Amino acid sequence: MVSAILEWIHCPVCGNKTRLQIRTDTELKNFPLYYPKCKQESLIDAKNLQITVIKGFEEKHRTD
Ligand SMILES: [Zn+2]
Repeated sequence: MVSAILEWIHCPVCGNKTRLQIRTDTELKNFPLYYPKCKQESLIDAKNLQITVIKGFEEKHRTD
């Protein structure tokens, strides 16, 4: 039986808890984290419960 630790991802902009959780063994790469309360999207990496915010990115959303 393997037990994993779950941790809430916090919004990199305001620091509030988002609705997303990661595990100790979760790995995210260039994950677009959108926090509705801030109406902002942050690009993040996650590994070993460490969140790295990728700065200086620009994303265009399809409108169709
Ligand atoms: Zn926020």
